[in-house]
Amino acid sequence: MIYSIAIDGPAAAGKSTIARNVAEKTGLIYINTGAMYRAVAYWCMKNGVPTREKEPLKSRINEIDINISYENGIQQLILNGENVTEDLNSEEVGREASKVSQFPFVRLKLVKLQQEIANKQSVVMDGRDIGTKVLPGAFFKVYMTASSSVRAKRRYDELTAKGVECDYNTILSDIEHRDYEDENRELAPLKQASDAILIDTSDMSVDEASDKIKELFEKKKEEYERNHKS
Ligand code: C5P
Repeated sequence: MIYSIAIDGPAAAGKSTIARNVAEKTGLIYINTGAMYRAVAYWCMKNGVPTREKEPLKSRINEIDINISYENGIQQLILNGENVTEDLNSEEVGREASKVSQFPFVRLKLVKLQQEIANKQSVVMDGRDIGTKVLPGAFFKVYMTASSSVRAKRRYDELTAKGVECDYNTILSDIEHRDYEDENRELAPLKQASDAILIDTSDMSVDEASDKIKELFEKKKEEYERNHKS
C-alpha cells in the first residue's frame, strides 16, 4: 500500500520545512515540486529564454532534463546533469517559476515526473496542485496556509539569517502577487482540495504543525489498516 501525503498551499506558508519534517517523522520520502518549477525558470534565466512568452520556451522544453537525488536525506535537484539545488532559493527564481508554471507544456512535463516518482513509493509531496491534480488519490491531504504578513516575516527572517539584504514590504508584495498568480491561473490553480485538512500555521511552530500532521496521518493509517485486515 502506498500512503502518500499531499501538502499544498501558498508561498512561504512553511510547506517545505514542515513537509521535510513530516517525512523524517513518518519515514516517507520528501518531494519538493516547487524546486522543479524553479529549475525550469533557472534554466530560462541561464539560457536567455524569456519566461513571459510561451513559444520560445515551448520550442526548447525538450532540452531541459530534470531529476532528483538525495544527499543525507535532502533532495537535490539535478538539471541537465548538474546539481543546481543551491541556485534555486532566491526570490527572483521563485518569481520566474511562478511565470513558467502557467504554461501547460511545463506542467505536463513536471506532473508526469512527479507522478512517476510517487507511483513507486510512499511520499510526502508539497506544491500547489498535489492534492487536486498530481495525486488526487493521495491517502492524506493537507492545505497549509498562514497570513501573508506572517509569511512575509518568515521569508524576511530566513533571508536575513542567510545574510541576504532584503526589504520586508517588497517581500510582502511579492508574496501577495505570487498568491494572485497561483490562485488565478487557468491551469491547476492553487486551491484547497475538497478532502484536504486545513492547517493555518500563523501561530504554530514547525514542530507543532509537523506533529499535528503526523498524528492525523497515523490515525487515518491505523484506521485504514484495521478496516482492511484480511
Ligand atoms: O513552492 P515554491 O515557492 O518553491 O514554488 C515556486 C513556484 O512554482 C510557485 O509560485 C508556483 O507558481 C509554482 N509551483 C506550481 N506547482 C507546484 C509547485 C510550485 O505551480 N506543484
